Amino acid sequence: MAETYKIVIGLEVHVQLLTKTKLFCGCRNKFGLPPNSATCPVCLGLPGSLPVMNREAFRLALKAALALNCRIASHPGHPPGFTKWDRKNYYYPDLPKNYQISQYDLPFSHDGWLEINVARDPKKEFTPKRIGIIRAHLEEDAGKNTHDESGRGGDTRVDLNRTGTPLLEIVSHPDLNTPEEAITYLEEVRLMLRELGVSDCEMQEGSLRCDANVNIHVPQPDGTHHETPLVEIKNLNSFRAVGRAIKYEAERQYEEFRKDTRGEYRFGKWLKETRGWDDTRGQTEGQRHKEEAADYRYFPDPDLVPVVVSQEQIAAVKAEMGELPQQQRSRLVGQYGLTAYDAGVLTAKGRRTVAYFEAVAAAVGDGKTAANRMSDLIFPALSDRREEIDAFPVPPAGFADFLKKTGPLSKQDRVHLLGHMLDHGADVDRAMEATGIKPQTFDEGTLRAKVAEAVAANPKAVADFKKGKDAAKMSIVGAVMKANRGVPNDVVRRLVDEELAKA
Ligand code: ZN
Ligand code: MN
Repeated sequence: MAETYKIVIGLEVHVQLLTKTKLFCGCRNKFGLPPNSATCPVCLGLPGSLPVMNREAFRLALKAALALNCRIASHPGHPPGFTKWDRKNYYYPDLPKNYQISQYDLPFSHDGWLEINVARDPKKEFTPKRIGIIRAHLEEDAGKNTHDESGRGGDTRVDLNRTGTPLLEIVSHPDLNTPEEAITYLEEVRLMLRELGVSDCEMQEGSLRCDANVNIHVPQPDGTHHETPLVEIKNLNSFRAVGRAIKYEAERQYEEFRKDTRGEYRFGKWLKETRGWDDTRGQTEGQRHKEEAADYRYFPDPDLVPVVVSQEQIAAVKAEMGELPQQQRSRLVGQYGLTAYDAGVLTAKGRRTVAYFEAVAAAVGDGKTAANRMSDLIFPALSDRREEIDAFPVPPAGFADFLKKTGPLSKQDRVHLLGHMLDHGADVDRAMEATGIKPQTFDEGTLRAKVAEAVAANPKAVADFKKGKDAAKMSIVGAVMKANRGVPNDVVRRLVDEELAKA
C-alpha cells in the first residue's frame, strides 16, 4: 500500500554558548541571577554605548560549525572567511535596542551536515542519514518577559539579564521525515555540543530551544504530490514535545487537506503560519501568519566591523576539537567489535565514560565483556548512587581486576560483590573474603556428574530441547548454576551440551 503522506520537517535550533560574558559587552552570561543584575549600557541599548565582539563566543561557534561540517563564510563576491553583523529590527519590551544583532545574508557558516542513525531498530543496526545544515549563525539573545498568568491582572515583568547573551542558530534542511528522526537529530546536536563544551543545552533553562517547520506531501494519482502550507511550531519545551507536536501537526494538516475540496489549501497559496504547541492539551494552536524577512528591515550594523575568519583560526579550532560522537561510535565498533547499539550507549554517556570503558577494555583484553559488564553493573550503580563516572569509587583498574576474578560467577553474585565494594570501599579480594562469594575450585568429573543429574531430573526440558527449543537448555544450565554456586558458567554450558547430546 502506498503511504498516505510523507512528513517533511526542518528544525531551527537556538543554543546559548557557554561563555563567561555576553556577546557584545562584559556582563555575566549566567542563568538564575537576580533579575536585571547582569546589565550595562551596551546590552540595555543606551545612547552612546558601543558593542565589542566577544572572541570566545566566536571561537565556540566556529567549533560547533566545523563539527557540523559547515563551510566557513564562503560567499561569492566576498573574500574567503568574510562575515558581518546585521540588525534585525523589531519592537518588543524584552529588546531594549529595538533591534537584534544577528547575521543575515553572509552568515559565518553554512552548507554543512550532521549524520544521524535512522535504523528501524536502533538497538540492532546503524543506518546513517545525513541531515543537511543550511546555516549556523551567531546572534544575541533577547531578554525575558514574565506575564502574570494568574488572571489577577498583575504586571508583566521584564528581566534583561539574558539580553545580549550569545546564541548560535542552527537551521537544518527539511531532510527529517519522522518525529523520531527529529528527536534523534536533536539528541545528536545536544550530545555533540555538550562534548565540545559549546553549550550545556539545557532545555529546562532555555539554553537549547527548538522550532519545527512542518508540512506534508500527499501523493496524487497522477504521480505528483500535493504540498500543504508550511507551519512553524513554537513553544516546544522538551524533545518529547517536539515528537508529539510534529505527529499532531502532520495529522492536522492531512485533515485540512482532505476537507479542502477547492484545492486552495496548498503550499504557495497560503502564508507560512506560526502555531504554538500546547503540551497539556496536546495540540498546536494558530498564532499568526509569518512576516516576510523584509519586514525586519535588515541592514549591516554600523557599530561593528566585519569579521574575517582566517585559515589559521579554522586549523586551530579543528586541532582542539577532538573526536566527535559519530567518529567515536564507528571507532568503538571497529576497534572493540561492539555492536552499533553498545557503541551508541557508551558514546551517549560522554567522553569520560568512554575513557573509563577503554581503560577497562585494555586491561581485560575484551571490549565486548567490558561494555556488557559496564551496562549490567556500573550504569545501574551510577544511577542508584546519582553519581557521575568520575566519582565512581571503583577505578577502571579495580573494575578490570573485578571482572577477571569474578568471570565464572552469575550476574546476581557479581551485583552482590560489587555492591559490597561500593559500600565498604574494599577491593574485590576483600569483598570475596567478606561475602564468601567466590569462584569455586571444581573438578570437571564432579561437575559433569552434577550436570548429568540435572539432565536426568528435567525430562521435560530435555524433550523440549530435542524438539528444537534452545531455551530449554538454558533452564538446565540455570539449575546447575543455582545448585552449585560459583562454578564457571562457560564450562557448565559445554557440559550441558555434551550431556544433552547423549540424552
Ligand atoms: Zn551588558
Ligand atoms: Mn534566531
